[in-house]
Amino acid sequence: MQKILNYINGELVAPLSGQYIDNINPAEGKVYSLIADSDSLDVANAVAAATQAFPEWSTIKVEKRSEILHRISELINRDLDKLALAESIDQGKPVKLARVVDIPRAAANMSFFASAAIHFASEAHITDVEAVNYTIRNPIGVAGCISPWNLPLYLFTWKIAPALAAGCTVVAKPSELTPMTAFLFSQLCMEAGLPKGVLNIVHGLGPKAGQAIIEHPDIAAISFTGGTVTGKKIAATAAPMFKKLSLELGGKNPNIIFADCDFEQAVNTSIHSSFSNQGEICLCGSRILVERSLYEKFTDEFVKRANALIVGDPLEENTKVGAMNSEAHMNKVLSYIELAKSEGGKILAGGNRIKMEGRCKDGYFIEPTVITGLNSTCRTNQEEIFGPVVTIMPFDKEEEAIALANSTAYGLSATLWTENLKRAHRVSAQLKSGIIWVNCWLFRDLRTPFGGMKQSGVGREGGWEALRFFTEAKNVCVKL
Ligand code: NAD
Repeated sequence: MQKILNYINGELVAPLSGQYIDNINPAEGKVYSLIADSDSLDVANAVAAATQAFPEWSTIKVEKRSEILHRISELINRDLDKLALAESIDQGKPVKLARVVDIPRAAANMSFFASAAIHFASEAHITDVEAVNYTIRNPIGVAGCISPWNLPLYLFTWKIAPALAAGCTVVAKPSELTPMTAFLFSQLCMEAGLPKGVLNIVHGLGPKAGQAIIEHPDIAAISFTGGTVTGKKIAATAAPMFKKLSLELGGKNPNIIFADCDFEQAVNTSIHSSFSNQGEICLCGSRILVERSLYEKFTDEFVKRANALIVGDPLEENTKVGAMNSEAHMNKVLSYIELAKSEGGKILAGGNRIKMEGRCKDGYFIEPTVITGLNSTCRTNQEEIFGPVVTIMPFDKEEEAIALANSTAYGLSATLWTENLKRAHRVSAQLKSGIIWVNCWLFRDLRTPFGGMKQSGVGREGGWEALRFFTEAKNVCVKL
């Protein structure tokens, strides 16, 4: 069976313990490869390699750094079909989605930061006529990058691309649930001529390999994307060590539909923002708030379209909803559907596990599920479910919609649908979310800051913010 090895000091190496973890294909419920079960000794080797590579990587001409990162991007595009297939098998998502969204966006992450590195500038200020201040931004050192399973290569590259572009060397860990594309990526880095030790990829479990990265004293900055509970643990470990921290965490995002919206666009995009990637996107709009005068019409149409979504084999081209990422996660999502019922929720669509036939007979599939009749304070409407499950709630006034939207501990993203320009700006200004989409969803410009408020995280990734994160600023004040 194929073994997923670590990438340390430019080579693919087995974990020192010789131990491996099963890697399961969630559409089949079967082990299909083995993952290096790395521990603190593997992490120590990775950090040593990154430390050794740092002086050269942080000082080579930025054009050279940029050229290598561009080459990696080109190789991702060259291998797009292979990577999309690997990601679909590893994660359960429809292969078409991986081909159209995940993998092209991973290539775009690499090329965007390859170019951004060249245009990155630090600041200078003339202080009256008395002094000139200028800021030197040096790469911070060895960075630790840890990513989740839902958008495997896309989020992995989202973290390491700015770190490498800024001149840091990196020790990275993808999720143990979806390691395959990061493994293939390590081979592309070797092919692209990335100098040894610049990027090191350690595979394994979060509490073991991941925790060792967070605890390592020679790692200066941590960029983490994952759950809020894990984020709290990471912050508790890293903060007393004064590490720089960027935490991108969970969400419980509102999708607000005003009666004056473009109905067709609102309902069509809401289907995507609810069920894309099986609802396993941190930015999915899992709480749909609909103005009462449109509530019935919207709910009827939404339920009709949710019922029509094709759930099935992720490798089939017409599949819209694939497999849940793991058995444990499927059971967690199903338990939330039971919770919703016990809280008085009415299941208008879905609500059940689906047993497929043939290849996927043991896979982890759940019907797109639509729930109404719940109040905003119940657990179903407060906790992140991270599956193909949405609730719909009516509201009467704009202020009520804003209050409902802001009524959770999370603040990652929000979407609103209205043709009223003033309202769009007014409501956006009052939503406590890091990203607000008006009349669209998941539209991304990589130059913009990205990140959540409240328990959805701290720090901002994307654009200059990401490059700055991986640098250490020093101001020089020269008296004139
Ligand atoms: P998770 O927190 O369980 O795991 C994320 C990563 O952290 C994995 O690589 C895991 O191995 C590692 N990890 C776990 N424990 C660790 C520890 N003690 N120390 C160091 N690393 C550790 O999250 P998940 O289940 O993989 O991902 C789903 C979550 O990620 C959801 O909550 C989702 O909303 C969130 N997410 C957020 C964003 C965002 O941009 N805000 C994007 C995608 C996913």
